[in-house]
Amino acid sequence: MALTLLRGIRTPTLLRANFSLLCTTQRHPLAHFTTRAESVQTTEPKAVPKSIQQATKEAAEQKIQGFESVIGIETHVQLSTITKAFCSCPNNYGSQPNSTVCPTCMGHPGTLPVLNAKVVECAVKMSLALNCKISMTSKFDRKQYFYPDLPKGYQISQFDIPIAEKGYLDVDIPVEFGGGHRRFGVTRVHMEEDAGKLLHSESGSYSQVDLNRAGVPLLEIVSEPDMRSGIEAAEYGAEIQRLVRYLGVGNGNMDEGSLRCDVNVSVRPIGQSEFGTKVEIKNMNSFSAISRAIDYEISRQILLYKESQADQIVQETRLWDESSQKTFTMRKKEGLADYRYFPEPDLPEVVLTGEYIDEIRNLMPELPEAKRRRYENIGLSMQDVIFLANDDKVIILGTSIFPCHGCACFAEVYLEAPILFNQACLRFIYFVGSHDHLMSCVIH
Ligand SMILES: [Zn+2]
Repeated sequence: MALTLLRGIRTPTLLRANFSLLCTTQRHPLAHFTTRAESVQTTEPKAVPKSIQQATKEAAEQKIQGFESVIGIETHVQLSTITKAFCSCPNNYGSQPNSTVCPTCMGHPGTLPVLNAKVVECAVKMSLALNCKISMTSKFDRKQYFYPDLPKGYQISQFDIPIAEKGYLDVDIPVEFGGGHRRFGVTRVHMEEDAGKLLHSESGSYSQVDLNRAGVPLLEIVSEPDMRSGIEAAEYGAEIQRLVRYLGVGNGNMDEGSLRCDVNVSVRPIGQSEFGTKVEIKNMNSFSAISRAIDYEISRQILLYKESQADQIVQETRLWDESSQKTFTMRKKEGLADYRYFPEPDLPEVVLTGEYIDEIRNLMPELPEAKRRRYENIGLSMQDVIFLANDDKVIILGTSIFPCHGCACFAEVYLEAPILFNQACLRFIYFVGSHDHLMSCVIH
């Protein structure tokens, strides 16, 4: 049946060249937290980097040796609004430095912020997707600190009353990492603005300030310290990215800094109730790097414990170095920073109504977790379930073949042929493309 169907299909040369490979591939070759761009481009098998599996295995072994790790994540999500959070400057990535700025986002005296309603809408969408309790009344606060990329001398954020709190996120661990379902707590979601960016000269003798990013809306999502390994943390981050993309609130691109994860890692002997000293790791630009950085840090801390040098684990910020596959000290923390938060006097409280939240809830798309459970119930293998739910543009239509085999869109279906062939008798047809295009095909 498969061959009969494919004979009538126009297939790109590249795919035809890989035909035998596609037909015989039993398992899709992509690592689970492959990004959307990678998943579309890749037709060659791409093995999961050995080091991740090795590191995960080592982390598990160390646990057996009497220690457990405790990991929490703070995620910053840049929102894809047309304008910035509190002024009408365009929110564009990659513009000429200091070309999308105005007196408000540059912090000139006498300027007044005006909240972009779209920011609240995105925050509510994300909070609902994270199963949070939404505050009907929340407020903004000033977080005060000095840094050259922050001309106001404070960041508008939310402190004691965030827009949402007490949620959770369900993820499925890929089969190659042991599989299973996990639920991680979400402490809070709050709205804030981004700071500018420093551009350091190659010589290191001077730096320049680009304020295009100042005032760009962010959601900060703080997790409970519920993860126990690098892979769990990476999966949590990947699921946040999926939600951001499914909901259309941002592009979730880590390489642009649109999705940034700071992780806190500590270890403690099993049975000890208090947490060990936590170390923060920054500068990871992929989920794979997050996984490796955490597992390295867990090993480093356990080793210090075993050598009776636990006092050398200090509260600090470490950076991940991709070339040496190690973390190194960026700065030591000398006690908790006191930001002297106080209520932002120039912005009113954010008051929501039940109708407003219901309206947003009713327009929410099917989210990855619901999709995974639906695909599982259809009878797909867990591996295919996870892979298919990765991408918000992949939609399983159902159990019948839709009637547009000859048109161009079918070539796109064929792009995902390794999985298509896994399904006995092509019971499931799925489609890669825009929703509008999909609908036109179904009608066709
Ligand atoms: Zn502005």
